[in-house]
Amino acid sequence: MTPCRKCGACCIAPSITTPMPNMPNGKPAGVRCVNLNDENLCTLYGRPERPTFCSGWKPDREVCGKSFVQAMKNIAALERQTAFEHQEPRSEQV
Ligand code: SF4
Repeated sequence: MTPCRKCGACCIAPSITTPMPNMPNGKPAGVRCVNLNDENLCTLYGRPERPTFCSGWKPDREVCGKSFVQAMKNIAALERQTAFEHQEPRSEQV
């Protein structure tokens, strides 16, 4: 199992669409979650208010890479891929 280096990238790079304490509208991609403390630890960890999305993130060599910058790039790419996959097809205008 890949150990977490606590870089905080997975709490900054992705968007979170569900409401959570201190961020009632969720979190846009690239914005640091306000529930992440100065040590890059989640202040909601273990609490029921923590978004399910967050619990699903696990350290992964492919995603985390070897640095914070690599992790940010990899997660941003996943974010774009997911957004593309969820787009509705445009209706053709005649
Ligand atoms: S709620 Fe916690 S785990 Fe989720 S993005 Fe914020 S700091 Fe990270």
